[in-house]
Amino acid sequence: MNHSFDAIVVGAGQAGPSLARRLAGAGWKVAFVERHLFGGTCVNTGCTPTKAMVASAHAAHLARRSADFGVHTGTVTVDMHAVKARKDTIVSNARNGVEKGLRTTKNCTVFTGTAAFESPTAMGVGDDRLEAPTIFLNVGARPTIPIMPGVDSVPFLTSTTILDLEEMPEHLIVVGAGYVGLEFAQMFRRFGSQVTVVDKGSRLAPHEDEDASKVIREIFDSEGIAVRVDANCIHLERDSSKVAVGLECNEGEPRIVASHILLAVGRTPNTGDLNLAAAAITPDQHGYISVDDYLQTTTPGIFAIGDCNGRGAFTHTSYNDYEIVADNLLDHASRRVSDRIPAHALYIDPPLAGVGMSEAEVRATGKPALVGYRTMTRVSRAIEKGETFGYIKILVDAETQHILGGTVFGTGGDEAVHCILTAMYARQPASLLTHSVHIHPTVAELIPTTLEDLKPLQ
Ligand SMILES: Cc1cc2nc3c(=O)[nH]c(=O)nc-3n(C[C@H](O)[C@H](O)[C@H](O)COP(=O)(O)OP(=O)(O)OC[C@H]3O[C@@H](n4cnc5c(N)ncnc54)[C@H](O)[C@@H]3O)c2cc1C
Repeated sequence: MNHSFDAIVVGAGQAGPSLARRLAGAGWKVAFVERHLFGGTCVNTGCTPTKAMVASAHAAHLARRSADFGVHTGTVTVDMHAVKARKDTIVSNARNGVEKGLRTTKNCTVFTGTAAFESPTAMGVGDDRLEAPTIFLNVGARPTIPIMPGVDSVPFLTSTTILDLEEMPEHLIVVGAGYVGLEFAQMFRRFGSQVTVVDKGSRLAPHEDEDASKVIREIFDSEGIAVRVDANCIHLERDSSKVAVGLECNEGEPRIVASHILLAVGRTPNTGDLNLAAAAITPDQHGYISVDDYLQTTTPGIFAIGDCNGRGAFTHTSYNDYEIVADNLLDHASRRVSDRIPAHALYIDPPLAGVGMSEAEVRATGKPALVGYRTMTRVSRAIEKGETFGYIKILVDAETQHILGGTVFGTGGDEAVHCILTAMYARQPASLLTHSVHIHPTVAELIPTTLEDLKPLQ
């Protein structure tokens, strides 16, 4: 059946649903297409379930440490059924909210199925043919399955399937020391599994500065998480009823036997089944759809928003993509992706939050810079909470005195970092923060203090 609309929105990720509602509210006739779970990755298999499970893992960790606080709880056990049930309730509430919101939006028609281009202005969804002059792709990404010996014959988990485990892995090997792998590694260790992290690189969280990798390693060591870095020739093997990972490292056993393997080696954009050629769009070598600063693809009228454009890999970047295209189309704004200041968090516990440039990036510019650094052992709130891993680090342009970037790695860091980010968006010098009075006792309170003690970045 043929249908004609003002816009087609493909994918109920973090940009699509808000965009569809906003366009429909402005009087556009919108077709919305989702093939699987409303809410996409963040709600179903990303942020929401993992942060719910990180909270369960934190509760277990704190309960085990309770004697440090003068509280005696007895033996701590983790009920994986209950952990999963709690997570599932949070996820399904969020998912149902997204779906209901779309299905009850006036001017918005929801289609269920996989959308693929038939021309630059038409997409097929099952037996339906949708036509519109403007099309938005919010198709997201999925876990990458690496080309690795044994991957076809040995059972493994991904960041999606591990969320449905009802049993406690006796020994979980996490292949990949990026954000996703590290979160699951600490979480399952705290649930009670033996955990080994394996990576071919030389350090954990390779996208972070080296000081961050060192602290993450200290945290993992303190919790008994084994780490095998510089691992060459990683491959999967069967070991009777178990699984094994073979690796060649400078030190350590060349083979680790375990009960479960998690492959956490990156994400692949869901662009392969869109038939992009019919829209005259050629994805890059990794499958990402190139966009300009306004998120338009090389074909006028077609926009790619969220993870599939390769310009962000987070919920907040996807949501910001929605804001950019909606404001530009409906409010005649000229918002651009390049106006966005990078911001991210790694949700191990304590969390690491970073905004702006890293120290390595600042160094690479070769421009004179200042750095303020304070360990969490010198932050009274962290001491009082008994959580002193981490540090605050802020980088400032030596000439303009503007903040270039900051890291708050430590308890409450994911919240505290926002005052640095806001000062950066305000385009004010660091003195904006040094002259502001923050609440005591907080982690954010030490951000002005850190800036009062800037030293040249050597
Ligand atoms: C384990 C994990 C933890 C994460 N934690 C965080 C975090 O703490 N903070 C954070 O900011 N980010 C986190 N992320 C990343 C975050 O989930 C994504 O960046 C975010 O969901 C944005 O995705 P999106 O909007 O691009 O699309 P997605 O949310 O991936 O949604 C895309 C949707 O499109 C649908 N679709 C795809 N192709 C088609 C098609 N052809 N036709 C119809 N429908 C289609 C899919 O079914 C899906 O529902 C995490 C990711 C993972 C995997």
